[in-house]
Amino acid sequence: MAKIKHLVVGAGISGATLAERIANVLHEPVVVIDSRNHIGGNCFDYVDKTGIRIHKYGPHIFHTNNQDVWDYLSQFTSWHPFFLRVRAYIDGKTVPFSFNLNSIAESFPPTMAQRLTEKLIEKLGYGHRISILQLRESKDADLAFLADFIYNKGFLNYYKKQWGCTPEELDASVAERVPISISTSDDYFIDRYQGIPSNGWTPMIRKMLDNPLITVRLNTPFDKSMEYENLYYTGPIDEFFNFEFGELPYRSLTFDIRTYNQEYFQNNVVVSYPNNYDFTRICEHKYFLDDKSDKTVVSFEYPSAFVNGKNERYYPIPRPENARLYEKYLVKAQTECGNTFFFGRLGDYKYYNIDMAVARALNLFDEIKKREGGNVQQTKSFGCCANLWWRKIFK
Ligand SMILES: Cc1cc2nc3c(=O)[nH]c(=O)nc-3n(C[C@H](O)[C@H](O)[C@H](O)COP(=O)(O)OP(=O)(O)OC[C@H]3O[C@@H](n4cnc5c(N)ncnc54)[C@H](O)[C@@H]3O)c2cc1C
Repeated sequence: MAKIKHLVVGAGISGATLAERIANVLHEPVVVIDSRNHIGGNCFDYVDKTGIRIHKYGPHIFHTNNQDVWDYLSQFTSWHPFFLRVRAYIDGKTVPFSFNLNSIAESFPPTMAQRLTEKLIEKLGYGHRISILQLRESKDADLAFLADFIYNKGFLNYYKKQWGCTPEELDASVAERVPISISTSDDYFIDRYQGIPSNGWTPMIRKMLDNPLITVRLNTPFDKSMEYENLYYTGPIDEFFNFEFGELPYRSLTFDIRTYNQEYFQNNVVVSYPNNYDFTRICEHKYFLDDKSDKTVVSFEYPSAFVNGKNERYYPIPRPENARLYEKYLVKAQTECGNTFFFGRLGDYKYYNIDMAVARALNLFDEIKKREGGNVQQTKSFGCCANLWWRKIFK
């Protein structure tokens, strides 16, 4: 078999973005392989027999402040405006989560709610967002009480289910993803651009890959005997190196997807259950694109540890020791793999959102193009680029 010039492992959003750029900008042939039987990676969605589009791997809402990424993806889709609002089942009722001033009003008797609200505005300012770990440092008696309430009812048990540990045992950036909001907005994200591809994620990614120069091979795991000139790898970096330094830990999920013979199951797209049951949240899929059906489809999300061969990797676990382990693989990649580029959530072992994954792939493409004027070769400075890049998106 002829040597493949550009081999992309993984047909998720990261692999699709890079393949699209190589084909449409460099005008060179690319082969994209994926071990799954579909494109899209964890963004994959499909329409089931109820006519409802299902997010197979959990709710995927696009949100970004990155104009370049928004413009890039908008070439392949129009957008259904969608502002995620999550409710959490706490003390017998659902309240908005991220916890905000409305959640306070719904959780406490009116005079108490008013005092807590006034105190938050006085001490932190209306519109401010603060992580639960920072709020817990408050010396003010009212704010300390509120922080304990939110921590114990909204975070602690959710973390134990989702991550298998307490909030303090993870990098603070995880808690910062779901801040307490001193406002009456129930929106989960505050990014300028938010939405879901109007026809779904899979059609958008199919359009990205729709180029005669791109060949997609599904049900095709990467095999080291494959012959290629350049490899772009969005699979797990530790697996690529046969776990030489040990396994990078992940959290896994099981999605129990059920159809109900009723129009709606719950009054919100996502309801989380921090304290009850073994699942963390229930997602009702017809809300995403406002699909109409006399039936409804919901998924229950059960988190667990990732065990190789038993379940799938979903969330890299942001902890210093895991970052150090990843660094060892990165150094090995820099020194030993002249023509192999690792990226994506699994390749970089980073907790990327979709916009970050796209931005990372676009940046990688720019580096490749700049360095060789279109003639791709790995250089040892790739690790530096990766680190610079890391600082840039998380600054
Ligand atoms: C439950 C959940 C909800 C999320 N919700 C959101 C959200 O609302 N908004 C948001 O912005 N982000 C969200 N994300 C993050 C989003 O899923 C990722 O940013 C995105 O999918 C990363 O894309 P990727 O291509 O890097 O990785 P993936 O989507 O994981 O794709 C990697 C692909 O590589 C394939 N692969 C791996 N190894 C091999 C191999 N050896 N051989 C062949 N193929 C291989 C895999 O099968 C997979 O298809 C969510 C993530 C999860 C887990």
